[in-house]
Amino acid sequence: MPQHASRDSVTQDPALRPRLLFTDLDGSLLDHHSYDWSPARPWLARLKRLGVPVIPVTSKTRSEIVPLRRAMGLADTPFIAENGAVAGLPPAWCHARLDRGPGPDGLVIKTLGVDIGFIRKRLAVWRERLDVAFTTMSEMSLEELTDFTGLAEPEARLARMREGSEPLIWADDDDGLVAFREGLEGDGLRLVRGGRFWHVTGESHKGSAVSWLIERFQALRGSRPLSLGLGDGPNDIAMLESVDQAVVIRGCHGLEVSPKQPALYRSEATGPAGWAEGVAYWWGRADRRVIPAEAPATHRRVGHEAPGEAA
Ligand SMILES: [Mg+2]
Repeated sequence: MPQHASRDSVTQDPALRPRLLFTDLDGSLLDHHSYDWSPARPWLARLKRLGVPVIPVTSKTRSEIVPLRRAMGLADTPFIAENGAVAGLPPAWCHARLDRGPGPDGLVIKTLGVDIGFIRKRLAVWRERLDVAFTTMSEMSLEELTDFTGLAEPEARLARMREGSEPLIWADDDDGLVAFREGLEGDGLRLVRGGRFWHVTGESHKGSAVSWLIERFQALRGSRPLSLGLGDGPNDIAMLESVDQAVVIRGCHGLEVSPKQPALYRSEATGPAGWAEGVAYWWGRADRRVIPAEAPATHRRVGHEAPGEAA
């Protein structure tokens, strides 16, 4: 049970609750190899019609997300960048008392984690002290980065514009990794596994950032939303544990992803096809699956329409 799910929020008619969808990008909404999202397009269009925000929660940087969210039709929704270190808020998500005015791109940017300068300083310290081998993204040449990620050069440039986390490729043994992780923890830093990179971040993670956005929504709208989360990597686990319903999208990486989440669906398909499969599982059949054990018969609507369209 997510920590925020009170008795009230569970018993409230789920069809009447506002909804938020939180999604990982690489390997989830975007294909791991081609970065294509066309299998998810019908659901993205449908959710937009229904007024359900689709909120990217990703290891990507703000600079990478801003053009991407425009291309995907998500310019009106918030986003979480760098594994929870940075949040971007469009005007409708801003709070007059809590936020300063938006920047030139119309977004208010909140730093939820620690500064990139501190992370880089500590990485240098631990590399020397433990004599371990790794390559950070900022140390890779543009060519190495495009080779390793499959990104085109302009996108790879944006990927290097870090604000609150540093990706790295580990090139040492498991014992070294344990010692490295412990050293970072002493600095208040965390090491999380993504699809391609390890990511060094502050105490914030995808889960804490998602909880922060849910609270923000509640502060602005006065009601707790029903939340769905989708992801394919170990760095998505905290996010998948912070939402009411979750989808683990079949990964291309062979890593275990097992969130403590009773309302969990595992997709058969990978990438955006698995994403569409997961959204359809939870929200494609009216509200039968929202609270299956407790729902009175009158709440069990049969059909394959998305919520709000059935009426
Ligand atoms: Mg992923």
